[in-house]
Formats: sequence, C-alpha cells, structure tokens
Amino acid sequence: MADAECPECAGKVPLKAGAEEGEIISCPDCGTRLEIASVNPPKVQLAPKVEEDWGE
Ligand SMILES: [Zn+2]
Repeated sequence: MADAECPECAGKVPLKAGAEEGEIISCPDCGTRLEIASVNPPKVQLAPKVEEDWGE
C-alpha cells in the first residue's frame, strides 16, 4: 500500500484501498485532518476547516 506524506509532521499517511480524491482522513501520527489530493501518486493536503459532521 502506498503512503502519502503528512504536510504537518512529514509522517507517513497510509491510504486505504479504495480511497478517493477529496476524501478526508486523519494523520495517524499527529491527528491532523487531511484531504486526499491525489491517489496516484499518493498525496494529501491539509483539509479545509469545516464544521460539518463527518461521522457518517
Ligand atoms: Zn501528521
């Protein structure tokens, strides 16, 4: 599985199988919310600050 790099802590952020661009994930190291900018090559960016509920 390919890993993206966290822009906050430079840690590895594994992308789940079936991950899609625009998906919001959390960095396993620092917990920062990240948006998948690209799946191939794997790349993430800081997620925009929103007040939406992502629990679903
Ligand atoms: Zn991080």
